[in-house]
Amino acid sequence: MIIGILKESGTENRVAMLPLEIAVLKKLGVEVLVEHKAGEKAFILDKDYVTCGSSVAERKDVISKSEMLLSVNPPVTNEPGDFREGQVLCCVLNPLENREWIEKCRQQGLTILALDIVPRTTRAQAMDILSSMATVSGYKAVLDAASMLPRFFPMFMSAAGTIKPSKVLILGAGVAGLQALAIARKLGASVEVFDVRSAVKEEVKSLGGKFIEVEGAREDAAAGGYAVEQTEEFKKKQQELIQQRAKASDVVIATAQIPGKKAPLLILKETVHSMKPGSVVIDLAASSGGNCELTENGKTINVNGVKIVGKSDYPSDMPTDASKMFGSNIVNLLKIMINKEGKLVMNMNDDIINGTTAVHNREYVSQRIKQMLNIK
Ligand code: NAD
Repeated sequence: MIIGILKESGTENRVAMLPLEIAVLKKLGVEVLVEHKAGEKAFILDKDYVTCGSSVAERKDVISKSEMLLSVNPPVTNEPGDFREGQVLCCVLNPLENREWIEKCRQQGLTILALDIVPRTTRAQAMDILSSMATVSGYKAVLDAASMLPRFFPMFMSAAGTIKPSKVLILGAGVAGLQALAIARKLGASVEVFDVRSAVKEEVKSLGGKFIEVEGAREDAAAGGYAVEQTEEFKKKQQELIQQRAKASDVVIATAQIPGKKAPLLILKETVHSMKPGSVVIDLAASSGGNCELTENGKTINVNGVKIVGKSDYPSDMPTDASKMFGSNIVNLLKIMINKEGKLVMNMNDDIINGTTAVHNREYVSQRIKQMLNIK
């Protein structure tokens, strides 16, 4: 089988796979074709890809010769018509934003492996791109906040007096929130964390954070470890408590999300107005509506001296390691799909393959995709 790696378009700096991971693929009996300059923005040159045993080619040749094409984002600059029936596209799909494109791919008989719907099971952990990218986002968000803040993060005892540690408030203790907690603690800040899932309380404590609880959160075991929408009464109580804690904080890192829904609104306009000038809010939920009422996706705004950063694409700002993790997750997925002869086998009885396949043989496959796109 030949696997092609496409160059990303627009502002994306990542590439779907780095040379070291390609070397692992080659051991599985696969040939790899890389689009000219695909790794350039992640600081990987064409010659590095050639050294690991892959070939570099122009985009049209990569597309025409490969059975499977890997990319970070859907190759939407290409019409599905540029691909051929039976070809497999493997990328982060963002189904709600790419509904029409997915439908065109289905009609044309393409297969789409959607890396953002890999089931979140223990067996699939090594393939979980969302976790890898959330790790990068949590890390980078804290570093960004620390560099924007007009204060130190750690406590300092110097001849010029004692400087108190900064206070960081984290909303949402998923993968990004826990990573942000760990990094903020390493930098010496004092950290408080909110979440609606009580299961994360111990993890927060073990990383040195203080867990802030609001009584009466709705939890649903059937949501597979994810948060669910809260009652109006709970939301009001939570917004009030967040306002109280945000007033006392120097930094707020907002990461709260509900899969397939708009992000919960946790920081109201009034809360921002009550915060100290110089404070920083980093809203990682910006692309799904934001946790802060004033967030503008892709922008940093200043409201009475409070900086609000609406940013959901931190992984693209750290393209080398983000691409390394991305490619490594793909290799782990492909290991269960490539047989001893180096051929692709789509075993739809495998829960990971079934759960990750958006469309195949002109049908929608994954239950999650069907739910998200409301397909009967
Ligand atoms: P996410 O990005 O969907 O959400 C981030 C966090 O926001 C979650 O912790 C969520 O509970 C929280 N949140 C949602 N609404 C909130 C509200 N109103 N107030 C405060 N917090 C709110 O989460 P994620 O990082 O993708 O992970 C969620 C969970 O998925 C994990 O904790 C874990 O249980 C599961 N998971 C499993 C695997 C695996 O087994 N392969 C991998 C990663 C995550």
